[in-house]
Parts: sequence; structure tokens; C-alpha cells
Amino acid sequence: MTASLEYARQLTDSPVPPERRDEILADPGFGKFFTDHMVEVSWTAERGWHDAVIKPYGPLLIDPASAVLHYAQEIFEGLKAYRHPDGSIWTFRPDANARRFANSAKRLALPTLPEDDFVAALDLLVSTDAAWVPSGGEKSLYLRPFMYGSEAFIGVRPSAEVKFIAIASPAGPYFASGVKPVSIWLSEEYTRAAIGGTGAAKCGGNYAASLVAQQEAIANGCEQVAFLDAVERRWIEELGGMNLWFVQDDGSIVTPELTGTILEGITRDAIIALAGSLGHKVEERKIELDEWRTGVESGRIVEVFACGTAAVITPVGSLKWRGGEIVMAKEGDATPVASEIRSRLLDIQYGRAEDPHGWMHRVA
Ligand SMILES: *Cc1c(COP(=O)(O)O)cnc(C)c1O
Repeated sequence: MTASLEYARQLTDSPVPPERRDEILADPGFGKFFTDHMVEVSWTAERGWHDAVIKPYGPLLIDPASAVLHYAQEIFEGLKAYRHPDGSIWTFRPDANARRFANSAKRLALPTLPEDDFVAALDLLVSTDAAWVPSGGEKSLYLRPFMYGSEAFIGVRPSAEVKFIAIASPAGPYFASGVKPVSIWLSEEYTRAAIGGTGAAKCGGNYAASLVAQQEAIANGCEQVAFLDAVERRWIEELGGMNLWFVQDDGSIVTPELTGTILEGITRDAIIALAGSLGHKVEERKIELDEWRTGVESGRIVEVFACGTAAVITPVGSLKWRGGEIVMAKEGDATPVASEIRSRLLDIQYGRAEDPHGWMHRVA
């Protein structure tokens, strides 16, 4: 590792008391509680990255003219730290998040943080707050590194001052009462990303633009939204924050190919490798909305599932649109391919199985 940032350590003298922390870790939910510390690194055009510090978690003092508040110059990542049965702590492919973060930075005209410094920042946060990594039961410590334009200047150009911050939040199992198929609303009015846009970057702006579609989903009794391509409104892209998979009756699995408008999920990439080793043929290609509908009706498509760091793999139960619905799975139905890949991935992440791909990174 050739990380070059040196951190000042300003550790908290009032950490969350251990009894309260245990109470939180018993039922953390998702994104509600935060650990005792955060990492912060500053960047300016003149000095580059500097003033790296690990300090008590707490509010930021932010100038009302800060670039991010006006023009959304912001990117983020999401990954997890897992406690293994022997007590050791590991992250999953943090180098892949580092690479994607650097690509997102370039697209949003933000400075790139060297990949080794990205990984080292998370290692420092996780090892400092190691007591916050829950054990067992599909619990984890969710890590949220992000970067934003912090210059106080209301003009339109890339911010000459930037902050990189990383925070951590304990996470419970995504499905508190067992894996349950999600219902999906097809967004026919709104799209998520267009060629030449920011769809392949992990930036807050993509999420801001997807929220109205998410609202529409909820209003129509669905939990998540599926987006189509912005040009023909014909090709399946992905959900608001998860990539999609289609299992065919011959055991082969299909995921939409990356065309610049789909976020390149690290879970998606891991599934490509795992599914292959489990004997499934994997196809990355364009898939039409019509193929989804008629495939389910004809029995050619036998399962649909979505993947991402937070939920790992979740079966898709139904797809609903104005005037119609298809059902892939009801609660309690077996979704063998999704379940098999899900277990295989979780076993690697939680240290219950060999890691033949060298994906796990030891932190503590
Ligand atoms: C983060 C994200 C995903 C999933 O990526 P993972 O690396 O697997 O967590 C999928 N789609 C979008 C839009 C995302 O932001």
C-alpha cells in the first residue's frame, strides 16, 4: 500500500457508552446511527490533498455559498465492513470502490483521491471504530465515503476547494424478517440517465432526480422503481440504486450491458464471477421491456433479481405499470438461483467460505 496521507488523530473523549452502543448494534436498522468518528481530508487547487484528520463524528460547518449546495458537485460510495467468526474485520473489494470513486470524481470535475488513500481512509475509520462492527446475523458496518465542492463561490465552475469525508453506520439485515420479493414500479415518465450524462457516476444528483419516480412507485403500492433508457424508452436499465438480473429457463442469467447510463455495481461484477463458477452462463446484453413481459408470461424468464451492496441480492416479485402487472414471485416462493448466488456471496463476505477471488481486505 502506498497511501500518502498522514492523519492527525483527534479522538473523542465522549464516545457513545458501551451499553448504548450494544443496544444500537442489537437492532441498528439502516443509516440511522453513526459511529464515534469520521475522517475528513481537504483539497485545494494550490495544495492538493491536505489536513487529513480523524475526529469526533459531528455536524459540519458549511458556508451557505458552498458550491455543493447550489450545483450539486458531489459523489459518494457505499461499502460494508464485516466481522468474521474469529473476530477479525474485513471489507469487500474496497479497491473497486476506490476506482469507481475516482471515475465518478472525474465525471463531476472533482479531484481524484489516490485509490490507496481511499482504502487507507476507510481502514483508519473502521479500525478506530472497530467496536461498532456488529457480529453475526447479516449485520455489518456500512461505510459512506463522499466528496463535495466546498468553495464559497456562487459562480459556475468546478470548486477550487473540496472535502473528502467518510462516515460509518451500523446496518442490520436488509430484510429483518427473511428475504422477501420486492415490488417494482416501471417509470414510464421519468428516466434516470441519458448517454453523455452522469448515469455511470455515483453522484447525489442522480438520486435527487430519481426521488419523484420513487414517490410515484410508493403511491402505486410498489417499493422500488425500474428505469428504461432515455432515448427509446424500450431497454431495461436498472433500479434507482440496484442492478437487475434475469434468470432464464436454461439456467443462464442476463444483466443489462453497461452502456454508460448504468451504474457499474460491484455486486453486479461479483455476481458475474460467482454465477459463472456456479455453472450459470452469464450474458451482458441489452434487454427489452417486452422481453421481460413476454418472457415471464411464456416461462422463458423464471426469476428476476436485483443486486447492490445494501440489500446484496433481492428477488423481484412483481413489475407494475399503468394498466398492467406481471408477477415473478410471491412471498414464500422459492427463488433458487437468487438464493444460491446470495448465499455464496454472503458466505465469502462473512468469512464462512473460501475467498477464491481475493475480494476480502483485512482491516483489523
Ligand atoms: C450504488 C449503486 C448500485 C449498486 O452498486 P454496488 O456497488 O453493487 O453497491 C446500482 N445502481 C446505482 C444507481 C447505484 O448508485
